[in-house]
Amino acid sequence: MAIRLNPYAQRYPLWLKGNLHAHTTLSDGELPPDETLEAFIRRGYDYAALTDHDVVATPAEERYPQILFLPGVEHSAQQHILRVNVTTTLPRDLSYQSVIDLTLQADGLVILNHPNWGDDFNHWRDAQLFSLERFHGIEIYNNVIEYLEGSPYATDRWDRLLSAGRQLWGYANEDTHRILQIGSAWNMVNVRQRSKAEVLEALKTGRFYASTGAVLEEIAVQDGFWFVRSGNAKALRLISHQGEVLEEVKGSTATFSLSRARVYARVEAVGDGFARAWTQPVFVE
Ligand SMILES: [Zn+2]
Repeated sequence: MAIRLNPYAQRYPLWLKGNLHAHTTLSDGELPPDETLEAFIRRGYDYAALTDHDVVATPAEERYPQILFLPGVEHSAQQHILRVNVTTTLPRDLSYQSVIDLTLQADGLVILNHPNWGDDFNHWRDAQLFSLERFHGIEIYNNVIEYLEGSPYATDRWDRLLSAGRQLWGYANEDTHRILQIGSAWNMVNVRQRSKAEVLEALKTGRFYASTGAVLEEIAVQDGFWFVRSGNAKALRLISHQGEVLEEVKGSTATFSLSRARVYARVEAVGDGFARAWTQPVFVE
C-alpha cells in the first residue's frame, strides 16, 4: 500500500468555517443577500457563498470585512449544479459537461447537488454522475433535503464513485433557504492565511473536511497511518472501498492503519445525535 494522493499532505494551523450553498430573496430564500451574510457572521462563519437559483446575488460585500464573500449560483436545470466563485449565469439548455467546463474556465468550484433528493433518491442518476467529468465533488450532505423527499446524505454515491477510482471531494452544504437552517452544515478549510484565494484552493484540492456538528482538530496521514483528533466525537470510523467500515474506535482520537485500505480511505466522526464530520479521501495504490 502506497499513498497516491493525500489532500492533507500540507497542514496549516488555521481552520476556517464556511457555507457554500445559500439562497436569498433573489430566488427562494427567506433573507435578502446582506442579511444572509449578517446571519452567517453572527454564527461565526469565516466565508460564505450566495448561490441563488440562476441569479447571482451581489451583496454590499465591502460592508462585511468579517466574512469572505464568494459569489456564485445554483445552475438549476433539471438537475442542479453549484457554481462558486463565478459572477455570471449560464443558459439552462447547455449540457452539464459544458456547465462544468465553463465554470472551471472561470476559475470556479463545481459541485453536483443533493444526489439523493426525490422520492426515488435519484436527483442525479449514477449513470449521470459516472459520465460527467472534471467536477470537484458532490454534496454528501444537504440540509434542505431533511425537509423534502429523499435522503440528505449521499455518502453511498460518493463511495461508489471513489471505488471506481474517481477523485472527488465530499461537501456538507446547508442549502440555506430558511433562517432556522443556519448552522446546520459547513466545510472547514485548512489554510495558510485568511483569503478568498486560499479558501478556494483548499476547497478545490480537498484540504478541508465537511461537518454537521462534529469537529476535527487534527488530520494527519503519514507512514501508512491515519491520525485523527476530534473535539467532540464519540466514535471514529475508517472507511474504504465500497464504503466498508474497516475499523471503528470509540472516543475522540484514533490512529488507523491504512494497510487494509483499497483504492481510497476516509474517516467519519460520529458525534452527538446526528452530528457528523467527514474527512476527504486519501487515495492509495
Ligand atoms: Zn439550493
